[in-house]
Amino acid sequence: MGVHDGQAEGRGLNFFLVDTALQDTLRRSLPAEEYRRALPLLERMGELSGGAIDRQAEYTDRLARPVLETYDRQGNVVNEVRYNPLYEESVREVYGLGTIGCNYGQGALPYTVHFGLLYLLSESDPGLACPVTLTASTAYVLARHGSEQQRARYLPLLAVRTDGPFADGATFVTEKQGGSDAGLATTEARPVPPEELEAARVAFGPGDGELVRLFGEKWFASNADADLALVTARPPGAPEGTRGLGLYLMPRRLADGTTNAYRIRRLKDKLGTTGLATGELELDGALAELVTPPPDGFKHMLEALEFSRIANAAASAGIHRRVYLEAKLYAEGRRAFGLPLARHSMVQQTIVTMLAELRASTALAFEAARALDDAHRTPEPALVAWHRLTTALAKYRTGELAVRNASRAIEVLGGNGYVEEYVTARMYREAQVLPVWEGPANIQALEVLRTLRPNWRSDLAMARRLEAVAVAAEADPRSREMADLLRRRWGDAEAALGWLAAHPDAASQHARRLADLLSEILEFALVLEEAVVGLAAGDERGLVLAFWLARLSLAPAPRHGIGEDLSWLAPVYDRLTAEQPLDGVRLPGIGVEVGV
Ligand SMILES: Cc1cc2nc3c(=O)[nH]c(=O)nc-3n(C[C@H](O)[C@H](O)[C@H](O)COP(=O)(O)OP(=O)(O)OC[C@H]3O[C@@H](n4cnc5c(N)ncnc54)[C@H](O)[C@@H]3O)c2cc1C
Repeated sequence: MGVHDGQAEGRGLNFFLVDTALQDTLRRSLPAEEYRRALPLLERMGELSGGAIDRQAEYTDRLARPVLETYDRQGNVVNEVRYNPLYEESVREVYGLGTIGCNYGQGALPYTVHFGLLYLLSESDPGLACPVTLTASTAYVLARHGSEQQRARYLPLLAVRTDGPFADGATFVTEKQGGSDAGLATTEARPVPPEELEAARVAFGPGDGELVRLFGEKWFASNADADLALVTARPPGAPEGTRGLGLYLMPRRLADGTTNAYRIRRLKDKLGTTGLATGELELDGALAELVTPPPDGFKHMLEALEFSRIANAAASAGIHRRVYLEAKLYAEGRRAFGLPLARHSMVQQTIVTMLAELRASTALAFEAARALDDAHRTPEPALVAWHRLTTALAKYRTGELAVRNASRAIEVLGGNGYVEEYVTARMYREAQVLPVWEGPANIQALEVLRTLRPNWRSDLAMARRLEAVAVAAEADPRSREMADLLRRRWGDAEAALGWLAAHPDAASQHARRLADLLSEILEFALVLEEAVVGLAAGDERGLVLAFWLARLSLAPAPRHGIGEDLSWLAPVYDRLTAEQPLDGVRLPGIGVEVGV
């Protein structure tokens, strides 16, 4: 256990070994053999994230952020991003561990393992989790849509498993005039004229794809100096909108080692993720190779975004886990009015709220991860629909939960939590980006609408998933009332879906409400599913958390909960937060008829 000046804290712990909930989630999400093979990676990442990377992330954020070096001492243009050596060391460790490479080559593990590693990394350095995600997304798209030559040349470098040379990736879409509305892009992909082709091919290096030169600006370019970027751009004569966009591979360096023709104008001065170099780019004839021409270029870039949305969900759950851990430990050590904070009922309620929402967040993120793996293994429409719906809901909901709970952690730590020497302050700043990048909340809500009937029928997949949970939950008298609650709330949701289907012109007005409704129902179902597994093993912790979650959203108690019996909470608090089995809890009835 990490201890600073007599106060327990997260730093110094192996974040994987102390997180039995994550272990259970991954064990359930992966075939036994694959979980076993993933364990050394997860353990190592847990150790790094709780130790060296955590120290590095604080140092980088407070004292040694990346800087753009524009000129050398002779006034020559350099245009390089400089990082501190501790950050560079963390980067080498994280890539060399196989965070991306574990999904490729012989004995490749499911993507769920990668997302588990990202969750752990985000507990200490969400800024570093970003380039790792971008590199994974670049590899993911190249593996699916790159030419044989592109795959052979770049994948082994993007997806390494050992210490040594590697390449990192990036995805450049957003322009000044449009992020969500990517179809407004004006960056041009001009074909290299025939008379320059031979020289251009030598400059670019081996390959057989069409070469273009990119002209324009990219307004938000994270990992601005990445070795390899996927870029959306419009060839001459292509139509307006996203259907006119092609997808291109743009290396930072040409074959002779010189810098490709784009300039990092400046680095953004950001609220959080300060170790990550997010730049504005001026593309001035940068050489790039075609991956996908219009009309499918943007569609293939969206696959990178879909992948990184699940990464965003895993990172959200990771940040959430860290702030929960810090709040819980602090509340145990700090005394006020003669008692540890953790003995005051209202503090207990806050910590249990953080924990119940953490279970929800983790369950959503890894449901989306598993859905991606399932859709890969068997790309049938029902599985693809589930993958798309869970990705949008998980991206949407987990980001909101991370922000909300980072704020709660500061509340629990009081004044100290607001001070930058405590990790809660940084995590609060880091969390704010989660609901913004990779498509903000409303954009996820619109995606939820698109996945429904008649297009993708994800609502039918959700109905099946929830019913399976309800059937399992009603088999035990202790969870029967929650099974009823789940069915009732899904009934409300079906009524809402029916209304939306009958009013397609008004549907987008209500998309955000629908995303709230569906994510609250799904997260409750997933936590209830875990509860049922726990009950079968003689453990009621999951039941308590499902009950608490229901009170927060689907079944609020009457009178805003005032007067509800809370006497059961104090006796179970320690075991609940110490992740030790519980039995014989006397929860109040959930009162399915009351509330909403
Ligand atoms: C730190 C950071 C790093 C980033 N890195 C990258 C990167 O590497 N590559 C990259 O391409 N981009 C990157 N981005 C950009 C990011 O993806 C965009 O900011 C994001 O997609 C939103 O686009 P926007 O900023 O243009 O906001 P807008 O699209 O202008 O949206 C503003 C608001 O309007 C809402 N809105 C938009 N359209 C609708 C609609 N139809 N209905 C209802 N509401 C709507 C949105 O939900 C949002 O709340 C980064 C951003 C940040 C903050």
